[in-house]
Amino acid sequence: MGHAQTVLSALGYAGRHLELIVAEDVPGLERALWAMAPAATVARPATFNLAAEKRGTLDFALEHLARHAPAPQEQIPLAAGAPWGTLGVDKDKCTLCKACIGACPASALLDSPEAPMLRFIERNCVQCGLCANTCPEDAITLTPRLLLTAQAAQAVVLNEAQPFNCVRCGQPFGTKQMIDSMMGRLGAHSMFAGGGALRRLQMCADCRVVDMMENKSEASILDVPKKP
Ligand code: SF4
Ligand code: SF4
Repeated sequence: MGHAQTVLSALGYAGRHLELIVAEDVPGLERALWAMAPAATVARPATFNLAAEKRGTLDFALEHLARHAPAPQEQIPLAAGAPWGTLGVDKDKCTLCKACIGACPASALLDSPEAPMLRFIERNCVQCGLCANTCPEDAITLTPRLLLTAQAAQAVVLNEAQPFNCVRCGQPFGTKQMIDSMMGRLGAHSMFAGGGALRRLQMCADCRVVDMMENKSEASILDVPKKP
């Protein structure tokens, strides 16, 4: 109710539009209803049908309210917890691992078949925060707002990167930033001492297996010293 009142007030529909009435009986409910001051309504009745899909119906209603608003807005800032909003991605932190895409239950985050890319459709986002909680780099911030322009339904690019090609077969399998980050974290570990193991981190999954089979003499985490 609070978020709805914020939207209606920002669009210029004067008055208090929503109220929770708790009444002891029907006459009490009627008295409470008549005591409410009328609020401003939309000048022209809507022509869409209500659908069982709540989010779709809400989109139609908001579009109608925005089109006939006394004070048209392109975007309306909302309080934390609102079910609409945008995302910010810190490009210096984001490795384009795509974990957030898998976590999003609303298809608001998308990748691209052409290149390593993170895209976002604001209209689909319900601000649940699953993407931000899933991100291993803590790169995502949520900003509640209602965007009322056509951009809300368009996929915008939040981050994109240069692909990383497997050093053995040359096929792209990740991003340069992701591999650099992995090398930085694992490069100093004793298990990756020696050029062979470190180079394997820069190979695609298939080439890693082939390379391991060709270098069976290398020390492995599975090499358990035998008891004397
Ligand atoms: S925002 Fe986080 S989870 Fe999403 S692709 Fe970037 S690093 Fe991965
Ligand atoms: S906040 Fe929720 S709905 Fe929005 S992009 Fe993240 S996971 Fe998807």
